[in-house]
Amino acid sequence: MILVTGGAGYIGSHVNKLLNDSGYETIVLDNLSKGHKSAVKWGELVNADLSDTETVREIFQNNDIEAVMHFAAFSSVAESVEEPEKYFKNNYENTLNLLKVMKEFRVRKFIFSSTASLYGIPKSIPISEENELKPINPYGESKLMVENLLKDESDFGGLKYVSLRYFNAAGADLDCEIGENHNPETHLIPLVLDAAIGKRGSISIFGDDYSTPDGTCIRDYIHVNDLADAHLKALQYLEEPFNDSNIFNLGNGTGFSVKEVIDTCKKVTGVDFEVIIDERRPGDPDILIADSKKAEEILKWKPQIPELEDIVESAWNWHKKINS
Ligand code: UDP
Repeated sequence: MILVTGGAGYIGSHVNKLLNDSGYETIVLDNLSKGHKSAVKWGELVNADLSDTETVREIFQNNDIEAVMHFAAFSSVAESVEEPEKYFKNNYENTLNLLKVMKEFRVRKFIFSSTASLYGIPKSIPISEENELKPINPYGESKLMVENLLKDESDFGGLKYVSLRYFNAAGADLDCEIGENHNPETHLIPLVLDAAIGKRGSISIFGDDYSTPDGTCIRDYIHVNDLADAHLKALQYLEEPFNDSNIFNLGNGTGFSVKEVIDTCKKVTGVDFEVIIDERRPGDPDILIADSKKAEEILKWKPQIPELEDIVESAWNWHKKINS
């Protein structure tokens, strides 16, 4: 049995589906503060908060948990700047609680949902795992604190973990059973699709004076199914007794500017809409592109849906479904 915390959320729900499709049994722990009950179509759902240690203990007591995949976290950079304590409590302290209970029950395998935000403003592109870790917001800082804790627990406490540093997760389940559905939405692709579907009048570009060819920020968009596949491979990696704890970047290795993303969305949807040049959003690095060679070499992972058009198309199919 695999415990999937945050399995009602965007990335967690796609991983939960893949685990079940691959023959694993899962139990999802989610407080449904951001996630959706309807996204947990596989495995059992326990509606509880990770700070509720008794309930977490009961899960370990009543199930034979082999490994934990930990997605439960807040992930809005803007919110983390306004309410840092909320991020340190939920993202760091609750992970500490979870690890304590795991230790009590001698569960050693842990897969952590980490982020490219750890790199802050990178010194070189593409970004490998060796790049300096210098988050520039409390969200990234809270995730870095967990990675530091995991390293110590692995070096001295018997934990075996894989930390997966995602670049920009995008797209949706190809069967359209689950997808991205944040409230409020802050991510570029769903917001652009909101403009395409007529839910908003226009899309704003946050700054066009960055050091990039068209002046807008460049990001590495990776399909959520490819992220899910990396989690499955990370679990299989940890199931091999001689493999050590490890850290992997997950991205396509190709960057697209905000303008290119908007143009792709216009092409895929066939809808034209107004685009407004707005102020920069604080804390946005010019360019984030992953070097994921390590995951390719060690996990034998390779993105299966690397084309931006295909990623956007899957997101669009889901977007039409939830807005119909
Ligand atoms: N962005 C934008 N307009 C929006 C939302 C996002 O121009 O309405 C830009 C944002 O500044 C960043 C990129 O799109 O450069 C991706 O932002 P997103 O929030 O999707 O992901 P992040 O890179 O922050 O994880």
